[in-house]
Amino acid sequence: MREFLIVLLVMALAGCGHDAESRAAAGDSSDTSTAVAPDEVETVPAPTGADVDVHTFANISQFRVRHADLSLRVDFEQKSLSGSVQLRVERLDPEANELILDTRDLDVKAVALNLSGSKLKEVPWRLGPRDEALGQPLLIDVSEAGRAQRFAVMVRYSTSPQASGLQWLEPRQSGDSHPFLFSQSQAIHARSWIPLQDSPQVRMTYNATIHTPPELRALMSADNDPAAARNGRFSFAMPQAIPSYLFAIAVGNLEFKAMSRRTGVYALPGVVDAAAAEFADTEAMLEIGEAMFGPYRWGRYDLLILPPSFPFGGMENPRLSFITPTVIAGDRSLVSLIAHELAHSWSGNLVTNATWRDLWLNEGFTTYFTSRIMEAVYGVDRRRMEDVLGVQDLREDLATADSGDQRLVPDLQGRDPDDVFSDIPYEKGKLFLDFLEARFGRERFDLFLQGYFDRFAFQSVTTEQFVAYLDRNLLQAEPGRVSLEEVREWIYAPGLPATAVLPESDAFDRVAAQRDNWLRGEAAARELDTDGWTVHEWRFFIDTLPVELTPAQLAELDEAFALTATGNAEIGLAWYKVAIRNDYRPAYPAIEQYLTAIGRRKLIRPLYIALMKTDDGAEFARRVYLQARPGYHPIATASIDPIVLPDES
Ligand SMILES: [Zn+2]
Repeated sequence: MREFLIVLLVMALAGCGHDAESRAAAGDSSDTSTAVAPDEVETVPAPTGADVDVHTFANISQFRVRHADLSLRVDFEQKSLSGSVQLRVERLDPEANELILDTRDLDVKAVALNLSGSKLKEVPWRLGPRDEALGQPLLIDVSEAGRAQRFAVMVRYSTSPQASGLQWLEPRQSGDSHPFLFSQSQAIHARSWIPLQDSPQVRMTYNATIHTPPELRALMSADNDPAAARNGRFSFAMPQAIPSYLFAIAVGNLEFKAMSRRTGVYALPGVVDAAAAEFADTEAMLEIGEAMFGPYRWGRYDLLILPPSFPFGGMENPRLSFITPTVIAGDRSLVSLIAHELAHSWSGNLVTNATWRDLWLNEGFTTYFTSRIMEAVYGVDRRRMEDVLGVQDLREDLATADSGDQRLVPDLQGRDPDDVFSDIPYEKGKLFLDFLEARFGRERFDLFLQGYFDRFAFQSVTTEQFVAYLDRNLLQAEPGRVSLEEVREWIYAPGLPATAVLPESDAFDRVAAQRDNWLRGEAAARELDTDGWTVHEWRFFIDTLPVELTPAQLAELDEAFALTATGNAEIGLAWYKVAIRNDYRPAYPAIEQYLTAIGRRKLIRPLYIALMKTDDGAEFARRVYLQARPGYHPIATASIDPIVLPDES
């Protein structure tokens, strides 16, 4: 693989990266280079008002919510949360007398002002027109508050069974004899279960009282108490100010198992022991994180293992990361996900993207930190393998994204941020930081990063603020190493800059040699030396197979390595993609089972996309999807409906 990477770099420098024939000549059928020649680079200056959050109705320059008091009842029969939120508001504009909040599908029952202590007075309010992506503004007349600098607003409401940020699971869907509820607020779904200023620029503390069926446990992104009694009433406090997308709740038959003094796992009874064993290195990761990026500022760090329908790998809800069960592989091979969610305790939760256009500030930094944590805990070989796989994923996404979305900062005006979701802010953002580390040296770059996190702790940052800070504190402080033009190319140009420092892996060189032996017919599949291969080697092996394989070749691989029957979700995804594009029918029952059991978007969406490319595949996809769809999360169906059911969506 090393030779190939060098070829690619030369291609990029020569400006011939888009050439499919050069790729084939380079010998890797799966690669899709998107390098851009320097003279093709179209660097777009930052738009004025880049700090304007186009995904909120809230008038956040006039009022700021500083604290929320929630009181909610969880009703599994009605699939609804009902109760109230009281928001403590600070007035920024003395002339303003209308407070605008974000909502989506909320049934608002009453709005009252709390002017002095506990005296509530109902005030006029109305819902504005509905926007497909943004929901509806709630406009509240707060003129009765006069010129008061601070006041509180109470909204009584209930959520809809279709709330985009909540998933209600029947007992059979949760994999337990009890129902299950969990939230997913990022990017703009908090407004579907709490009326608030739903912008990453607004931070607030919160308290909550949650009423549940007495046999269940409620958890939030707050001070969860592992010893809390199950008595139908749970109280929470979140003393650190967080943006709305980090509000989180889960309710279910959840047990707790400690992993260290300050880390533990919440999961369903059948999962909790396996999860605690799989993620036993969490404390070690936390200690590495603290050594590299400064103190962990959130108290406890626990994991909540969700049912398989959770649409993401993980969600960095503060103090309590939400985690897909699909990374419980039995051999700790997929725990980089935990490193990733933990790293968000610094990048994202502590220093937050100011708008969803700036998502790479959360995810690119976090992906970079993930690599650093994985290297420190598991060694550089594993880190390199995971880095190479990350670049493979990035190239796949760059190959299908239009040039605007290949930038680190895409234009999201008029778009739902969920629609632009890809590996680009993650992996391209990480490669940008790898590039800076390579140019300035790790020691110097770490110092810069620590300064950045101190400077912007508990604040939101735009890309342009970051660039200005970088220019002042690193580029100018260490002149002659990186130019502002190079930085701008990374951020505002499509594709992968020629300055990228691409990862290489000796372990994958050995895998490639085995693969080529087999492809040349020099060894049968069962004769290949696959001893000790982890998910990384298997993914690389499968992902770099030729696009077309014969039925006999597929059957030979399957017989030698039992790929169709794999219990590893990542190996499954890689192999099923190969099976689908070669119409390898023996794998289809397993694919159906996989698509029905799992709702993690990253694992299932690519399979639906692959299936829809042929008539037979499309028929299979539609049948399986209609059957599996009721068990998927609204966020997953929103992005798969247009693929599988284009006429209905
Ligand atoms: Zn992340």
